[in-house]
Amino acid sequence: MPVVEHPSVPKKIIVIGAGVIGVTTAYQLAREGHRVQVVEQADGPGLETSFANGGQLSAGEVAPWAGPGVPMQALKWLGRADAPLRLRLRLDPDQWVWLWRFWRRCTAKAQRDGASRNVGLALLSRELMTKTLADLEADGTPLDFDRREKGILRIFATDDEADYAAREAEHLESYGLHQKRLSAAECVALEPALASAHQRGEVAGGVYSADDTSGDAYKFTSGLATAAERLGVTFFYGETVRGLERLGSRITHVRTDTRRLDADLVVMAAGVMSPELMVNIGGRLPVYPVKGYSVTLPVPDDGSAPTVSVTDEARRIVVSRLGNRLRAAGQAEVAGYDLTLEQDRAQSVLTALQALFPALGEDVEPEFWCGLRPMTPDGCPVLGPVPGCDNLLLNTGHGTLGWTQALGSAVLIADMVAGRDPKVDPAFFSIDRF
Ligand SMILES: Cc1cc2nc3c(=O)[nH]c(=O)nc-3n(C[C@H](O)[C@H](O)[C@H](O)COP(=O)(O)OP(=O)(O)OC[C@H]3O[C@@H](n4cnc5c(N)ncnc54)[C@H](O)[C@@H]3O)c2cc1C
Repeated sequence: MPVVEHPSVPKKIIVIGAGVIGVTTAYQLAREGHRVQVVEQADGPGLETSFANGGQLSAGEVAPWAGPGVPMQALKWLGRADAPLRLRLRLDPDQWVWLWRFWRRCTAKAQRDGASRNVGLALLSRELMTKTLADLEADGTPLDFDRREKGILRIFATDDEADYAAREAEHLESYGLHQKRLSAAECVALEPALASAHQRGEVAGGVYSADDTSGDAYKFTSGLATAAERLGVTFFYGETVRGLERLGSRITHVRTDTRRLDADLVVMAAGVMSPELMVNIGGRLPVYPVKGYSVTLPVPDDGSAPTVSVTDEARRIVVSRLGNRLRAAGQAEVAGYDLTLEQDRAQSVLTALQALFPALGEDVEPEFWCGLRPMTPDGCPVLGPVPGCDNLLLNTGHGTLGWTQALGSAVLIADMVAGRDPKVDPAFFSIDRF
């Protein structure tokens, strides 16, 4: 395979995009001795979808969104302004094709298959997080991103739902992911801030992934970008890639708005913009934006705010404690590339957070944000070579799991460049599956 031609020779590699995926890729490739340049249209790293996400590193929540019951649920929510899932149909063939493929995967089997693929990458990333943080600490440059190692607790409004989730968790046990079914009382013992939700009868039980963690993805991404710079990575910020120039089966240049950069190898990590950049070389990528919202609040350190990361399955929000801030994220809107922050959508995430944790009160100073998840219809990322193109690797389409799977994806790409056997089967994530 030409991508691994002369694997031991350091290569000149261009990474497109400095979100959490591009930055982890650049860091890993630089550690392995490659000369890496990153082109990023924003003025710094992690300023798009990786900026204010839900903060969860959640190997326990790797099931694709396409699942049984989702189409019916989406229909029921049609027309509701605060619906957690919203569809805005557009005259966009890419959206229709994406929705068709998503709909076809709304089965228990497809969802379980996707989860078992995703979990390997998430667990590899978890292992690499420990190693990366230890390496940075040993180098005297520790990375602080408000990390919490208190696990992630999913709570359910009914016993049936908690039991179903526990059965799915058992299935993932064989891949090395350990989770525990908790009673309602155990959920409250673990996270006392859930007491009032429990009293109102909203917590029937939970599933706890004790080894999962949470933190601030933006702080992580920008801190790791600094570490990558120390390893010699060059970042061209404020520079937009306009196209890839191809000669035969090779990308010869990456053309930006100010220059042409030549490279031995190009890694596509441009999030939701990746498909557009593939068009001019005749490639098609089934990645479509799914918009989500988050709200971040300052919280007092008096014990009233939660410290364990929580996923409220009934309200469809995730909550993470980031130092003296609390973040909730949710909403899924398949509506194209529009990044307008709609107040009612953002407010519904805040309302859900306040309903779950009433002790936060009404008098809060929220910071709202929205971002576009780069989603594939099957909920698994697209990693690896592009048929017919010898020196282009894809690292995109991570959807709801970009931070959770970033380090594992980066190492998979580095393994491909080095011609090593990857720890996770790359065929699971190949573009050929579409
Ligand atoms: C509300 C919400 C909550 C989420 N919660 C979680 C969570 O709890 N845990 C989790 O793991 N994941 C979560 N995610 C998903 C996660 O944030 C994404 O999967 C991840 O950020 C995607 O990273 P990326 O690097 O692919 O994309 P991005 O961060 O968007 O990076 C792509 C970069 O490419 C750049 N770019 C694009 N086009 C060009 C061009 N032509 N030239 C130069 N640069 C270009 C962009 O400017 C951007 O910086 C959440 C997402 C949302 C929206």
